[in-house]
Amino acid sequence: MWNAIAEKLLDAKKIVFVTGAGISQESGIPTFRGKEGLWRKYDPMQLATIDAFYQDPKLVWEWYEERRHNILGAKPNPGHLAIAELEKYKDVHILTQNIDGLHQRAGSKNVYELHGSIITIKCTVCSFKDKITTGFSSLPPLCKCGNMLRPDVVWFGESLPQDVWKSAMEQASTCDIMIVVGTSLAVSPANLLPVYAKQNRAIMVEVNIDPTPMSYTMDVSLRKSAANALPGLVDLVSGKVF
Ligand code: NAD
Repeated sequence: MWNAIAEKLLDAKKIVFVTGAGISQESGIPTFRGKEGLWRKYDPMQLATIDAFYQDPKLVWEWYEERRHNILGAKPNPGHLAIAELEKYKDVHILTQNIDGLHQRAGSKNVYELHGSIITIKCTVCSFKDKITTGFSSLPPLCKCGNMLRPDVVWFGESLPQDVWKSAMEQASTCDIMIVVGTSLAVSPANLLPVYAKQNRAIMVEVNIDPTPMSYTMDVSLRKSAANALPGLVDLVSGKVF
């Protein structure tokens, strides 16, 4: 399967991954969209917007706490580990929409969290930001300044952290190969990253169990799960398949 672009992979200096919820699905973390997606059970507008938060902060916090506990109990799967392993051979950058920290836990160094992290909190008013190290005695938790703390994630309608987005655009525009893994490419502006890479004539690869709106623009589309497909990529680049 990777053989179709084997030469390009071996020659590539910089490989950029764009990852989404699908790469963590095999770690037991549900995606948003798709057959088992969370949005089949929940209404995103009641849980993942700033309006929803101010309307019912306890409900939103309970949902994030349940997800955070699930994520902390999960482990990186062979898909995350393969990407981390690839760093031994190539200049690898990961532009992730995920908030679960599994790329970092797999050992990847160059991770750009476009949508923030479920493992950190920030104040709704002052500049306080920190890692969550223990549980909370009551929800919503309060900042030392007296205002509510919120999960440090990007909700619908909010801007991405500008420094992270700028770096992500730079990486996308300068890669030799872009590998888009487990994302529906339904969320803007992250879904523009493959466009920037394509404009720069990068080789485009998609790993997704289902087609996406950009499948037709890809040089190679692998209809396989991330944990199944990605270890083969490392074998090829490391020379194990020869
Ligand atoms: P999405 O839920 O919209 O789409 C998931 C995609 O992954 C689909 O295209 C699906 O076909 C594919 N997929 C499912 N299982 C797969 C597998 N095992 N291997 C390969 N592909 C698989 O996810 P998205 O595009 O990342 O949506 C963006 C939003 O979802 C982001 O805001 C992100 O923060 C949020 N999200 C993150 C997590 C996480 O951090 N793990 C989990 C759920 C949602």
